[in-house]
Amino acid sequence: CGIVGILGKGPVAGQLVDALKRLEYRGYDSAGIATLEDGSLTRLRASGKLKNLEEKLASAGMTGAIGIGHTRWATHGKPNEANAHPHANARVAVVHNGIIENFRELREELIVKGHAFASETDSEVVAHLVADGLKAGATPEAAVAAALKRLKGAFALAFLFDGQPDLLIGARRGSPLAVGWSEEGSFLGSDALALAPFATSIAYLDEGDWVVLRREGTQFFDAGDTMVERRRQPLQAGSFM
Ligand code: GLU
Repeated sequence: CGIVGILGKGPVAGQLVDALKRLEYRGYDSAGIATLEDGSLTRLRASGKLKNLEEKLASAGMTGAIGIGHTRWATHGKPNEANAHPHANARVAVVHNGIIENFRELREELIVKGHAFASETDSEVVAHLVADGLKAGATPEAAVAAALKRLKGAFALAFLFDGQPDLLIGARRGSPLAVGWSEEGSFLGSDALALAPFATSIAYLDEGDWVVLRREGTQFFDAGDTMVERRRQPLQAGSFM
């Protein structure tokens, strides 16, 4: 129900949880984060309140400088840890808000191709769809762009890739998503409230947009994969606090 992403300079796990707390008002039944630890996708998930995730984090010692996070309001699959986001395989982790309406047919197609599913969610198909493209040799950008064209429904998505410590990708169709920037890094969030403690400027994705975050800069693309500009506006320090 809430999405965050941080491409930072120091450990981001605690910041991801702090940003998720700012999205608690939307309601949720479970939560999770994924970071890259020494370049490898590492997940931490817990059912129930963010406090449960925080307790796990205290003993997990995640130090990665890039990550994504999620608070889930279950629509498909019980609110347990296995169904909590991020959903992941060896190549990519994804967090998803919304509903993938054609997940059943995509799931069957991906199972035939050898992808093993670990949850009952509609969301997990997105991770395997992108992994399928990566496996075939596509770049992360091309794999996401191709996957988006297969999805029916409403969603906001954020992706983190194994072995890619300088790359986050976000996408928006039907659920809001914003990008934020500061001296410390760049950010993805479901709303400005989530980004307020971190970002000094923000831009909203337009309907159908997807966005590539790297330390050297941010690139927005529209639904037709044309590179576009999106209006960046200052976010006052202390606003929404
Ligand atoms: N449909 C997804 C699920 O049930 C995402 C729900 C949400 O927006 O939190 O896991």
